[in-house]
Amino acid sequence: MVDNYFIADQFTLLAKLMDMHGENSFRSRTYSSAAFAIEKITQPLADVPEDKLYSIKGIGESVAKKVIEMLQTGRLATLQEYISKTPPGVLEMLNIKGLGPKKIATIWKEMGVESVGELLYACNENRLLLYKGFGAKTQQNVQESIEFYMKNQGSHLYAETEAYAKAIDTTLKAQFPDRLFALTGQFRRQSEIIDRLEWVTTATSTELLAFLGANNYTTHETLEDIISVMGPENVQLKFYSTGAAAFYPTLFQTSGSEEFITACQALPGWSNGASYASEEEIFTSIQLPYIQPAMREKAGVLHNIKNNTEPLIEPDDIKGIIHSHSQWSDGVHTIEEMAKACIDQGFEYLVISDHSKSAFYANGLTEERIKEQHRYVDELNEKFKPFKIFKSIECDILNDGALDYSNNVLSTFDLVIASVHSNLKMTEDKAMMRLLNAIRNPYTTILGHMTGRLLLSRPGYPVDHVSIIDACVENHVVIELNAHPRRLDIDWRWIDYALEKGVLISIDPDAHSIEGYDCHYGVLAAQKGGLTKQRNLSSFSLPEFEAYLQKRKTARGI
Ligand SMILES: [Zn+2]
Ligand SMILES: [Zn+2]
Repeated sequence: MVDNYFIADQFTLLAKLMDMHGENSFRSRTYSSAAFAIEKITQPLADVPEDKLYSIKGIGESVAKKVIEMLQTGRLATLQEYISKTPPGVLEMLNIKGLGPKKIATIWKEMGVESVGELLYACNENRLLLYKGFGAKTQQNVQESIEFYMKNQGSHLYAETEAYAKAIDTTLKAQFPDRLFALTGQFRRQSEIIDRLEWVTTATSTELLAFLGANNYTTHETLEDIISVMGPENVQLKFYSTGAAAFYPTLFQTSGSEEFITACQALPGWSNGASYASEEEIFTSIQLPYIQPAMREKAGVLHNIKNNTEPLIEPDDIKGIIHSHSQWSDGVHTIEEMAKACIDQGFEYLVISDHSKSAFYANGLTEERIKEQHRYVDELNEKFKPFKIFKSIECDILNDGALDYSNNVLSTFDLVIASVHSNLKMTEDKAMMRLLNAIRNPYTTILGHMTGRLLLSRPGYPVDHVSIIDACVENHVVIELNAHPRRLDIDWRWIDYALEKGVLISIDPDAHSIEGYDCHYGVLAAQKGGLTKQRNLSSFSLPEFEAYLQKRKTARGI
């Protein structure tokens, strides 16, 4: 679809390729600035009359012509030309973090390296050091990025496969109405990363292969009753074909992690090869209550489940939007628009947490602008009663772990979300020093995206989760579960420990626009960690949330 993001992406790629091919950097910059401008335009360019396109800020005549070309043809001829002049392995290098177009040009043209695998080998041999612009540090970074990239090849975010998985599921059920199909594996467990989509089915391998083959899927592997195919979308699909009697036992066995299934098999009552008419029957036979697929990961859940009487949190249990950015920093909408959207969507409150002053790249707020914003929020709160906007800030955790404002300024917020945004490459000692200092600051209410990870593109800085969680208990700090599908940070694997210690979690959207309010992926991840609405701050009603903030301030003596 030719939407603004598509157009911006094409211009970004064009600019990079022009740089790689050594074109005049003045020209390439025109396209990278255009991409930047277009990403910020909220109105679809397809809806803008052609003659008006020329007058949009950041879009000159040559850019406008190319926008029209893309809207009309779905492609950009100049870009295609550059792509055809570039070896595919060199194009792939653009996925390696830390490698810009200029460096790629050196690797390609001076070193004669034309694929990612070859480049990794060159790093191992220290060959990068021989070239201008490549020091030992750069080489090490490139090497680590390649290893990370290769490890994650073929993997996708849950969010990227969700619609696709459901669409295929529907198609298969319609195509084979007399057969049973059930999604299983990582997808059914709501894993944050999906390596393959899996189904258990009573359809035979032969009929499945015939149907998939006719729809452009290529066979990857066939192993008796297990088939694996790859479709045009580059996601691996795997099918376990069974007879009706083995359908539910196979569904059970393929839904849980290996650790979970092994633990179940050790329980009295487990019987290999028995036939069951539902998964509930299997749980009954091993004397366990039904465990939702999301939680079938750790062996420990078999013991904990008996004490957990509250149901898992559901998307509808989110009562307020905590952690959001407005036009005052790097968000798209005004605070008024954001509040109205909250009210329309049935939320009881909105926590506005724009960036703090050190985040200059995101137009972070100076002390003066904070005062101004607070006056404005007071006015809006008068207007929107009983809905409430809370005054907050996503406060940078500085290099030494201090927060970005004086205590005087910090005391003017209803709550403070403390996050690391700068110097992410650090040792565990350094990361822990910064985080622990921030947690001990009495004004820190919530610890934002704990490790800074971006799934499939950037590992987080190393942290000792146990010490952080313990420090949060001691200092009454809530731990955010950032609901952005690329973050999902804190990792759900630590939620059970956090809950056991008595920490509150807060599923926060980190919204940069109204469209970003959706906490769905955060809730799915939280379910994996066994979170209930009682232990999630953003599920508190407005009076409960206000009472919590007050109680916490008293406890911290502020
Ligand atoms: Zn942040
Ligand atoms: Zn944020």
